[in-house]
Parts: sequence; C-alpha cells; structure tokens
Amino acid sequence: MTDCLFCRMVAGEIPADVVHETDRTLAFRDINPQAPTHVLVVPKEHHPTVAALAHADPDLLGAVVRAASAVAVQEGLATEDGVEPGYRVVTNTGPAAGQTVLHLHLHVLGGRDLRWPPG
Ligand code: AMP
Ligand code: ZN
Repeated sequence: MTDCLFCRMVAGEIPADVVHETDRTLAFRDINPQAPTHVLVVPKEHHPTVAALAHADPDLLGAVVRAASAVAVQEGLATEDGVEPGYRVVTNTGPAAGQTVLHLHLHVLGGRDLRWPPG
C-alpha cells in the first residue's frame, strides 16, 4: 500500500532505525519513544490490525510475536528462558486506543518500570 507509512518503511522509501529483521517481519525504533526501549515490530505485509492479521494469517502473527520476543532479548529486557527484568508488548486498535498507523505494529516497551493500568 503506497499510502501506508509502515509499508513505505518496509519498502525502504522512508528511513527506519532497524533493530531486527526476518523474511516476514521488520522491527525499528519508534520515532517518539515512550521508554528507554521502544521498538515497533511489523509484518512486512500490510494488515491493518491484530484482529485482521489473526484471521488472515495466524502464522504471520506468530512470526511477529516471535520477532517481538527476539527484540526484547536483544535489548536486554529478558533472557532466552527468563522474564527478567521484563517488558511490555502493546498493540493499539482503533481511535479510542490511539491507533494512528493502520498497519499492525507491536510496541515493545521496556527499560523502566511500567505502570499498570496504562493511561
Ligand atoms: P500507534 O499510535 O499505536 O498507531 O503507534 C504508531 C507509532 O508510530 C507511534 O508510537 C509513533 O511515534 C510511531 N511513528 C510514527 N512515525 C514514525 C516513523 N517515521 N518512524 C518510527 N516510528 C514512527
Ligand atoms: Zn502498510
């Protein structure tokens, strides 16, 4: 989709600070970080929401979640077999949740204490 920001970043038309890549996923630093680590993980294919992707291609959703966990390990937020110190994976859906880019992305947040409930 030529009018989608993240499709354009996947295509290399808009620069991205890439931290992890697989054949089907791309992860790059958020331009407006909300924590010391704030990485966005996207499928290279365009899917608007997590629900849409879960229905269209559950294997790809699994690949996106695996990529998020690899980013967390790479960023020192967890070990391969442990959960310390910990991190948060968030995906906003729709305007009430503040979704601004209609291409599914997992936010991987960590490096500070994260409060609950979120705002
Ligand atoms: P959401 O509001 O959940 O749809 O998340 C969209 C995220 O994309 C926000 O956290 C933005 O800061 C981030 N963002 C917008 N433009 C860029 C960009 N060019 N590079 C990296 N992150 C971006
Ligand atoms: Zn897209």
